[in-house]
Amino acid sequence: MRRKFVAGNWKMNGSHAANAELLAGITAARPFGCDVAVCVPFPYLSEAAVALSGSDVRWGAQDCSVHASGAYTGEVSVGMLAEFGCRYVIVGHSERRQYHGETDQLVADKAKAALAKGVTPIVCVGETLAQREAGETEAVVKRQLSAVIHALAHCAGEMVVAYEPVWAIGTGKVATPEQAQAVHALLRAQLKAATPKADAMQILYGGSMKPDNAASLLTQPDIDGGLIGGAALKAADFVAICRAA
Ligand code: PGA
Repeated sequence: MRRKFVAGNWKMNGSHAANAELLAGITAARPFGCDVAVCVPFPYLSEAAVALSGSDVRWGAQDCSVHASGAYTGEVSVGMLAEFGCRYVIVGHSERRQYHGETDQLVADKAKAALAKGVTPIVCVGETLAQREAGETEAVVKRQLSAVIHALAHCAGEMVVAYEPVWAIGTGKVATPEQAQAVHALLRAQLKAATPKADAMQILYGGSMKPDNAASLLTQPDIDGGLIGGAALKAADFVAICRAA
């Protein structure tokens, strides 16, 4: 039986004051019956670590470099994330793919860099609206995942997959439980063909998951949790989703 996992993706949001309130609201609501994490902007890793250490709420980052160190201005290595106690790093979020031109290969290399330092990558895949309407959903997510599986073939460690249809991110348009489950089942089958660990791997849904739609998504057999954007910025909403998981 897989444990459910709810991860907050704060994106480029936060301030010292807002973070303190949000993290206090989350820790006060423990215990949760699922794994819980927050993925915060780099400058706030230290305060997340202070606020959350000693609790079972985990923290992570939203991106990483493929390089270990050197002349890569503005980049942050996985080794640095590990020093801040990051358990997770999101890689291949559609906003990175879209605004920063990240390719499947780069995303796979980032996942590999994370695993090499013992940080669990949360690998995002998902189709755009145009791709869904053209009937390309399956081909797109398979291509995105296969690059990562290929890169990870010889890596130990855990990986989390997040299915995030681009048309559902931040739009209020959530995939139906059936639409999401269908893609999750495809991804699970693809993982199964590649690794005996597939049954134990958490596949999260992301895209306008909110307290009022979380339960119907999270009861699908292959939906093991959520990657939460907007609703992760309010403690009450985030906690409600954790409770639904
Ligand atoms: P959303 O974002 O919950 O605001 O749709 C999810 C994500 O981008 O990870």
